[in-house]
Amino acid sequence: MAAITMQNLVKKYDDGFPAVNDVSIDVADGEFLILVGPSGCGKSTLLRMVVGLEDITSGELLIDGERVNDKAPRDRNLSMVFQNYALYPHLTVYENIAFPLRLSKGQFSNDEIDRKVRAASDTLDLDDHLERKPANLSGGQRQRVAMGRAIVRDADAFLFDEPLSNLDAKLRGQMRTEIAQLQRRMGITSIYVTHDQTEAMTLGDRVAVLKKGVLQQIASPRELYEQP
Ligand code: ADP
Ligand code: ADP
Repeated sequence: MAAITMQNLVKKYDDGFPAVNDVSIDVADGEFLILVGPSGCGKSTLLRMVVGLEDITSGELLIDGERVNDKAPRDRNLSMVFQNYALYPHLTVYENIAFPLRLSKGQFSNDEIDRKVRAASDTLDLDDHLERKPANLSGGQRQRVAMGRAIVRDADAFLFDEPLSNLDAKLRGQMRTEIAQLQRRMGITSIYVTHDQTEAMTLGDRVAVLKKGVLQQIASPRELYEQP
């Protein structure tokens, strides 16, 4: 677990337009923060800056008080869950979940990998599907495999980029509940990007509202709800 501190973060792409404009947010250890706002407001850019997939133009990014602006993604120990799942089609569910552990060369024995993969698949109710390929899974099962790949590592935080937007409404509601329960159970610091108001108002501890790259407000769902 880790606290994530964003201080005056700015991202300018090549055209010079600030996609993220002076955003400061303190995400507490174990907190579930939602980033919400209309398409194009800079949510993904901000998330990608935190995970290290996008350079920071100016400002400071701290993880547990340590400046990580120049750290490679792999050294930040964050797990990201993508909208398009980013599963490997030629690998089984088991190997998709094991993948991050196999990447960290020599760190885990096959026994350890097996134990961690089975624990993750048990948590996510994927035990019966471990030998299947992603193409043979439902949307919800694929999303669970993507979650499995995130929780199998002992990451300091989860970053979600609209993970449910490809699912139908019923499944989205079900997965929303599952993600909220999982986050609470694991108590892992999480940042969750969405443009869905229901997700924003039901999932997190606090909601940060972005507009045109600027942080408009940050408050608990209750505080936002009670506003005139
Ligand atoms: P959101 O995730 O809220 O939809 P994005 O972070 O994807 O917003 O985009 C924020 C702004 O930055 C938009 O105006 C978008 O067009 C622009 N943008 C995003 N990625 C790039 C890029 N690689 N190059 C130039 N502009 C980009
Ligand atoms: P490669 O080209 O080496 O397979 P990628 O392009 O997939 O790597 O990723 C580049 C970097 O981003 C890697 O260092 C990896 O650690 C990091 N990365 C990729 N996916 C994730 C993720 N889901 N969560 C966190 N970091 C990631």
